[in-house]
Amino acid sequence: MLASSRLPPEGIYCTLESMTMTSTPSLPIYLDYAATTPVDGRVAEVMQRYLTVDQLFANPASRSHMLGWQAEQVVEQARRQVADMIGADPREIVWTSGATEANNLALIGFMRANRERGMHLVTSSIEHKAVVDTAKALESEGFEITWLTPGRDGRITPEQLRAAMRDDTALVSLMAVNNELGSIHDIAALAEVTHEFGAAFHTDAAQAVGRIPLDVVAQHIDLMSLSGHKAYGPKGVGALYVKRHPDIRVEALIHGGGHERGMRSGTLPTHQIAGMGEAFNVMQQQQDADQAHISALRERFLSGLSNLEGIIPNSPLENAVPNILNLAFEGVDGEALLMALRDVAVSTGSACNSASVDPSYVLLGIDTPRRLALSSLRISFGRFTQEADIDHALTLLRHAVSGLRATAR
Ligand SMILES: *Cc1c(COP(=O)(O)O)cnc(C)c1O
Repeated sequence: MLASSRLPPEGIYCTLESMTMTSTPSLPIYLDYAATTPVDGRVAEVMQRYLTVDQLFANPASRSHMLGWQAEQVVEQARRQVADMIGADPREIVWTSGATEANNLALIGFMRANRERGMHLVTSSIEHKAVVDTAKALESEGFEITWLTPGRDGRITPEQLRAAMRDDTALVSLMAVNNELGSIHDIAALAEVTHEFGAAFHTDAAQAVGRIPLDVVAQHIDLMSLSGHKAYGPKGVGALYVKRHPDIRVEALIHGGGHERGMRSGTLPTHQIAGMGEAFNVMQQQQDADQAHISALRERFLSGLSNLEGIIPNSPLENAVPNILNLAFEGVDGEALLMALRDVAVSTGSACNSASVDPSYVLLGIDTPRRLALSSLRISFGRFTQEADIDHALTLLRHAVSGLRATAR
């Protein structure tokens, strides 16, 4: 039975019973920041300057008129903003359509361009699908992949990596922050091991920007994938950092026009790029405040859950970002919980595989029992999450979990 004291006041919150009725339309509480973040208002304002006829809509590659040069300046300013965030030189930033494309360019582009160095790539079983599937595609091209499996903490250790390195290892690709668990890799230590063997190091940093310190020089990074929309910028834009000294060679995947120093052709989307630049600029100023705000929300959420039994954290308690919490609710089906939580936007595992009922490969990859993997939710907070959102979500979550457990009994 549901404890009536836990029921929210009628008419204010959506209760399980009222879900069958057409209830008052209100936006769900968004706790899925790891899937995407809203565009910051400051960013949206900048993006609107480069679209219409009375604005700077010109092609940044147009060399024959001032409007083209001005658009190019906008792109170059954004390039500096993105480079600044990771301690890179602006000339090391290659614009892409997102981190997915950046990962494809890093892995396929590097492996194809460096065949003489070796045909072996080392990565991990809990990378984002944009790395996992790209590595599998390389396998069918004749490259050899070693899949490292992390510990329960979602981390590959430098010792593990050292044991996997070979004379013909050309590239190591390990993500900076895992998108389902929030676990943080020691990318500097992993890159150092990689370089001992003369290979190059790539990291997918889509979830890391503004969450952990990133410095490509101090952390010895050769290739780094970035995304606009995980950092309060727009979707559909990203970048690949490609180290210049010593030169990291990457073969283009998209041909035509020779934009981005021949590495990625295609007319640059000025508004998207300006948006990503401004998002990274805002992030640089705001990251400390963001992190403090989000850490407090996480504490509030965890203490609010402490009176609910049978919650097993999948996210590691150490070496993890505070904005991602992956939790298993014992005895509750994750999909059923998602349905019961209609007014809270969360995810069971990664957004990319939430359409399938297979348990998250990331959770299975850290040895989560299948039963618990199917009972798990990823809850992720962000810049615009309010304390009231947490409290409201907690009420709904407690109610949904107790309700589902009661009916399962
Ligand atoms: C979101 C995400 C991606 C994909 O980025 P897009 O810009 O959406 O293509 C890649 N890797 C990680 C870790 C992500 O979280």
